[in-house]
Amino acid sequence: MARAQRFLRSRRQGTTEAAADAPASRPRPRSSRPGVPVIDIQDVHKTYSVGDIAVHALRGVSLRIERGEYVAIVGASGSGKTTLMNILGCLDAPTRGIYRLNGLDVRGIDEDSLSDVRNREIGFVFQSFNLIPRTRAQANVELPLAYAGLARAARHERALTALHQVGLGARVHHMPSELSGGQQQRVAIARALVTNPAMILADEPTGALDTVSSAEVLGIFDRLNDQGRTIILITHEQAIAAHARRVVRISDGMIIADERGERAEALR
Ligand code: ADP
Ligand code: MG
Repeated sequence: MARAQRFLRSRRQGTTEAAADAPASRPRPRSSRPGVPVIDIQDVHKTYSVGDIAVHALRGVSLRIERGEYVAIVGASGSGKTTLMNILGCLDAPTRGIYRLNGLDVRGIDEDSLSDVRNREIGFVFQSFNLIPRTRAQANVELPLAYAGLARAARHERALTALHQVGLGARVHHMPSELSGGQQQRVAIARALVTNPAMILADEPTGALDTVSSAEVLGIFDRLNDQGRTIILITHEQAIAAHARRVVRISDGMIIADERGERAEALR
């Protein structure tokens, strides 16, 4: 299944309303434990096999990201950014190395449970929006809540709140085709937010947008981070990375720099 579809899918079986919270038997990140990083990866490698050739996309990446951080992962095309995002988003498994998401070691978790973790803990934003066509903005935003088994009225309310948060309160009944690219991406951000995830993971979220829409979208990420959201933004553009408070540089499958600082004032 393509990554873009898989990120949305959660349980295969139908769920009851109470199942919005996972049963105790399922592995569950310990979100509330203070001092536990949202992301903790240690010496992660990813090797793709293409015929006889091994492509070493990640070569020993270690990274900790704490709650409330705004991190940009920057690197040239082919440096391994998307591979890293797929691993951070539990869409793909490392060849070697450890990944703890909110303290939970994700190795060995079966696909169903992993979908639950993904649906609950991670809000995805992609370059190509990945909205469901011919489906109104509000229904698009409700989708992860439907997978989580939330009742209809609660879904409506939370979707409306999320759409208001991204400034689209007046567009809730629009179809994706009736929205600009920037507005579509804001719907996607609302969808990423609606489950109240531990982090937002965005891969080149402004890659398909004009300058004005890009600024709007980045402004939303800035605001969300000001409100305490953990944001991980993957980009090849330096100006976009300047919105983050921490910039991690990746080259040839390795982290070559990890810099912290204030957000560039000029870009706010
Ligand atoms: P970026 O997102 O920074 O452009 P990627 O993570 O997409 O980089 O790719 C890193 C390296 O891994 C590249 O050399 C790319 O060709 C290779 N790669 C990525 N995905 C696959 C795949 N599914 N199979 C084989 N090689 C891949
Ligand atoms: Mg990429």
